[in-house]
Amino acid sequence: MASEIPRLPPSGIKVIVVGAGFAGLAAAIECDRKGHSVTLYEKVDDINEITRIGDIISFDPNGSKAFERWPGVIDAMEAIARQTTWLDLYHHEGKFVTRQSFAHEKTWGRRINGHRGQLHDIIYRHAVARGIDIRLGKRVEDYFETDDPPQAGVVIGGERFVADVVIAAEGVRSRGRKIVLGFDENPKSSGYAVYRAWFPSDDVAKNPIIKHLVVNGDTHQGFIGPDIHFLASSIKGGKEVNWVFTHIDDGNIEESWQFPGKPEEALKYLDGWCPIVHELVKATPPGRLIDHKLVYRDPLPTFISPRARITLIGDSAHPFLPTSIQGASQSIEDGVVLATCLQLSGRADIPRALRAYEKIRYDRVHRAQAMGPKTRERWHKADWSQVWKTPEMIHLVREPWLLNFDAEKDAYDRYADVVSALEPPRAKL
Ligand SMILES: Cc1cc2nc3c(=O)[nH]c(=O)nc-3n(C[C@H](O)[C@H](O)[C@H](O)COP(=O)(O)OP(=O)(O)OC[C@H]3O[C@@H](n4cnc5c(N)ncnc54)[C@H](O)[C@@H]3O)c2cc1C
Repeated sequence: MASEIPRLPPSGIKVIVVGAGFAGLAAAIECDRKGHSVTLYEKVDDINEITRIGDIISFDPNGSKAFERWPGVIDAMEAIARQTTWLDLYHHEGKFVTRQSFAHEKTWGRRINGHRGQLHDIIYRHAVARGIDIRLGKRVEDYFETDDPPQAGVVIGGERFVADVVIAAEGVRSRGRKIVLGFDENPKSSGYAVYRAWFPSDDVAKNPIIKHLVVNGDTHQGFIGPDIHFLASSIKGGKEVNWVFTHIDDGNIEESWQFPGKPEEALKYLDGWCPIVHELVKATPPGRLIDHKLVYRDPLPTFISPRARITLIGDSAHPFLPTSIQGASQSIEDGVVLATCLQLSGRADIPRALRAYEKIRYDRVHRAQAMGPKTRERWHKADWSQVWKTPEMIHLVREPWLLNFDAEKDAYDRYADVVSALEPPRAKL
């Protein structure tokens, strides 16, 4: 099966990828497409530890472009994705405000909103089908790079593994940041946490206050109030339902993706909110609620190591807040651009590839990152006297520069100019 999947002739470039999240898998697949030889190390022993958890995640057209180039992937995703082209927005006390349509974005590409674990599983299975060397149960302890020979590597269980280039895609608590920054620093709280749930809709369909959310196929709605936004949607023809709301982090939860939440605790934040959100929270089956602290990092001065043989991608390089709706898409773009730059530089000049990758990605990814807090403020601090007059004020910002974008084409188009404008390498440490 692996040989039937199209890829460029072998480039001779040996790549180590650390982490099998969206960023790591996308980088591995894109490197394989470009003919590089990939070994991926992931710390979990069983991929189900990643693919069975999670709830709603969105890929916008700029991220989904890559999936269209991976045989079978976009169709498999669309089959399990939410079938809506709109978002209905309500005041938190229940009055309808506005419908935002995304129908016109169809010309930009596909939007995929679905269960994070299930979408992840589709990508993982595609990576396996390509024959990528994925080693589970391998926790990277450290990174290194050398001039002679010119290479980079990782340490696992005290053993050193080397390649021409190492891609650190281990998420927001990345160890790769130390060799890039030259010091250790911890992620910080964003000041917000998020309750999230995903469950079968059988009980919701029996509840007269909320059954309209699930009995007529897929739906998507948001309720906006002071310091909180509550998003709910149904999926798979209304058979499954999910909701998520951001709240001020009062410091009572751990920095963990899977910290179990209690519906009665969640309801305390929703005093005065409409019955729909209360009933949805109460309908959440035991064990299906997660309370998740949103950690953040300030923008890094660079994504690449002093010898430019190790690079950060995805949340390792630039963690996103959910309101940007771009974290996953940007992590896919990272892999696309990096694999392309490696193709264009060739094995003889890996540092040039990494420096071009950084140059191409840096401004764009930080512009996208900055949109998270902006949307949050637009919702949480809405001036309702104005919103009722101009409801579009609370529409999500959907800008063509961000969404109608093909990262691969852009990298091919700009590589030569970017390389010719590169400054001399920074001093080696
Ligand atoms: C609550 C929340 C909701 C979000 N919702 C959306 C959304 O709707 N749409 C969107 O686009 N984005 C969303 N995002 C952002 C998005 O999830 C991330 O930006 C994206 O998944 C980044 O993926 P990643 O691969 O960089 O990191 P991760 O998904 O964290 O993957 C890192 C991987 O590395 C592995 N790993 C870690 N350390 C090591 C090690 N030492 N050795 C080996 N392996 C290791 C981990 O096990 C993991 O598999 C959301 C983020 C949050 C926090």
